[in-house]
Amino acid sequence: MKPLEDLIRPHLRDLVPYSSARDEYTGKEGVFLDANENAFGSALNDALNRYPDPYQQQLKQALAAIKGVRPDQIFLGGGGSDEAIDLLIRMFCRPGKDNILILPPTYGMYEVSAAVNDVSVVRAPLTADFQIDVERTLAAVDEHTKLLFVCSPNNPTGNLMAAASVRTLLESFSGMVIVDEAYIDFAPDQTWLAELRRYPNLVVLQTFSKAWGLAALRLGMAFASPDVIQVLNKIKLPYNVNELTQRAGLEALLHEREKDQMVDQILQQRRRLTQQLQELPYVEHIYPSDANFLLVKMQDAGGVFRYLIEQLVIVRDRSRLRQCEGCLRITVGTEEENETLLRALHQFS
Ligand code: PMP
Repeated sequence: MKPLEDLIRPHLRDLVPYSSARDEYTGKEGVFLDANENAFGSALNDALNRYPDPYQQQLKQALAAIKGVRPDQIFLGGGGSDEAIDLLIRMFCRPGKDNILILPPTYGMYEVSAAVNDVSVVRAPLTADFQIDVERTLAAVDEHTKLLFVCSPNNPTGNLMAAASVRTLLESFSGMVIVDEAYIDFAPDQTWLAELRRYPNLVVLQTFSKAWGLAALRLGMAFASPDVIQVLNKIKLPYNVNELTQRAGLEALLHEREKDQMVDQILQQRRRLTQQLQELPYVEHIYPSDANFLLVKMQDAGGVFRYLIEQLVIVRDRSRLRQCEGCLRITVGTEEENETLLRALHQFS
């Protein structure tokens, strides 16, 4: 890895971030006449008249205990982990000059965020069994490649990336390796969090949107070295995680057992759904999944997709994506929802 100083965009090194008086006074007691809030109360009966903690310290403390990291290794995004993806691109990539390296077929936001920021995208496709082609990946790196996005478990293919490959990339790539673990709660022993100490160029992304069942909160997490987190904190919007989200996130962490129980149910339903989809004559292949969805290759995937919409069952058509030709991506639903899907699929002709 190059020194962090050399990797981040030069003008960010000396950037003076937005600051408020409450960076200096963090107590709860006092008369707060510094932030032009409404001292009389709020239009809702919910004590929302004050700006929230810009660094979400309570939430980070609770999260740190659960994840086995320190609070200064955590960045939280109030726009989901999508916010962290965008900020990482803006932190490391000079518009019009630098590039990110992605491993398609993979999550679409890396490209979208890069395009919005005028950052170009270099691609090193996954192998036929959706694993990292390490040689090809390293060969795609040039002097302007700042970030490498590894999605594990990968969306839309559902599989984990072989740990040995990820490790080789962490040890050989001179930029930052972003391991997107949005679906890691469905394969929790495969997280890279414990490796943060060893690899200063590792960033791990996780989210409350999947296993925790809190997609509407838009709460995402980035775990990295304190040096990286410090810069993310500098360039984020001042109050990027709103008060209701911070409260709900904190409360959710008290209910980790419920999350685990839902994960168990989802995994059980994934097994059943896999077996039952296999019985359909036009289904050609179901890719092994470590996530809460299945990538299913079938005859006339486009026709099945449109037919399902008529039946009010909405799945994701990935059949025009290179390497996913003929595939639909199907999220694992409740038992009832999966049965509705299967009933419809049995009637497709
Ligand atoms: N990464 C991956 C791989 C995803 O599939 C998603 C959501 N579809 C995200 C990140 C973004 O999740 P969120 O912004 O809801 O945290």
